[in-house]
Amino acid sequence: MISERINRIKQTLPEGVRLVAVSKYHPVEMIQEAYDGGQRIFGESHVQELVQKYDILPKDIQWHFIGHLQTNKVKYIAPFVSLIHAVDSEHLLKEIDKQAKKCGRIIPVLMQVHVAKEETKFGFLPDELLAFMQSGAWQQYENVSIEGLMCMATNTDDKAEIAREFEQAKKLFVQCSSLRSGADGTMFNVQWKTRSWGMSDDYPIAVQHGSNMVRIGSLIFGERIYK
Ligand SMILES: *Cc1c(COP(=O)(O)O)cnc(C)c1O
Repeated sequence: MISERINRIKQTLPEGVRLVAVSKYHPVEMIQEAYDGGQRIFGESHVQELVQKYDILPKDIQWHFIGHLQTNKVKYIAPFVSLIHAVDSEHLLKEIDKQAKKCGRIIPVLMQVHVAKEETKFGFLPDELLAFMQSGAWQQYENVSIEGLMCMATNTDDKAEIAREFEQAKKLFVQCSSLRSGADGTMFNVQWKTRSWGMSDDYPIAVQHGSNMVRIGSLIFGERIYK
């Protein structure tokens, strides 16, 4: 059942778009079922829950942390997390770098850009992020690899608005990925490759507007039960 849903979604995704199965609030049995059907990338947004699931489930799962991450909790996921989606401050980037170093790892991350209308969503404003990337300040964090952008659109039925927000993120991605270092003109952030946007309700719009990584939960696992 879960695997059928995953396969159905995958059939609608253009080639090159990766699927993160967002398993937050869902039990390990459901994740195991998706795993048995071949899914390997799972997304979680609470540190304690992720650590518990990591301990129990197969070790070749690629765990993505997709939620708002508090700096004091980075240490718990640093040893094993595959990708941190939502870096929303330099402070957090610095802490991820520090914890990655302790583990002898380089942790891949995405920068979160705030394009939605809601104030409640986290992330850098587009101009702020561009300025930060242009500053080159991130280059001192040698144990993180900044691989792209993540965003969430406004929760609305207005498809044109959602499309506009994803386009804004796409434009920013292009700007960031074409930054070059001064004199010799070499690219200094060649790792840029991932555009993480699109959830259950808006992923078809997201893939039309530049996404190459969608984060889908309820469409795969059903409604979440919040305890
Ligand atoms: C929960 C969550 C998702 C998945 O949401 P669905 O609507 O269930 O697909 C995607 N991205 C983030 C950041 C989330 O927190």
